[in-house]
Amino acid sequence: MGLKFASFLYSSKDVPGSWSCVVFLKGCNFRCKHCHNWRIVIGEDKEEVQEQKILRELSSNPFIDTLVLSGGEPSIYKVHELKDFFTKVKEINPHLRIRVDTNGYAPDILRSIRDFIDGFAVDIKAPLSRKDLYSYTAGIDVDIQKIEESVRIAEGLPLTIYRTPHYPWLSEKDIEEIREFTSSLRSPWFLNEFVEVPSCPFNTQ
Ligand code: SF4
Repeated sequence: MGLKFASFLYSSKDVPGSWSCVVFLKGCNFRCKHCHNWRIVIGEDKEEVQEQKILRELSSNPFIDTLVLSGGEPSIYKVHELKDFFTKVKEINPHLRIRVDTNGYAPDILRSIRDFIDGFAVDIKAPLSRKDLYSYTAGIDVDIQKIEESVRIAEGLPLTIYRTPHYPWLSEKDIEEIREFTSSLRSPWFLNEFVEVPSCPFNTQ
């Protein structure tokens, strides 16, 4: 079947100090409140970009040094589908770095692709001690162990970062707990601004 690409864009902000091509894959196993990409999560966005077009872009733009595979959620795809794509990307440009953005809910997939990429951006959506709050945010009954495992798998790679949107329902104590947890990790953590998405259908779930 292969990867389903929704769209791509160029960014100087996603990876600090880098020009990146951010590629969005369709589908996700979470239903987060105020998801910015809910249309590609539920497949409402019928548009699909062919892999060849993305590879052509990557080979023809000399300013891009990083590919960010985002979504949606890349880890809902099969390991061989992801590896095939990375191999093609490396064939056209061996120097291109690759980062995978993930909600951390498929540690086995992340472990299998770790050696093929340069890092992950792993979401930490609530304190790991708060299954209730994590599940509320993600819109599903979250198994926290999976998130913790993914955090450990991602640790230490050159491009790995952890990210928390500053959701208004997280208290200062929650933020402090995440800050303390991530301060013991080898890769940096960022508290990102929360941007409301009133149209997101997951807000009511
Ligand atoms: S993990 Fe949540 S925020 Fe990210 S794409 Fe999936 S539903 Fe949206």
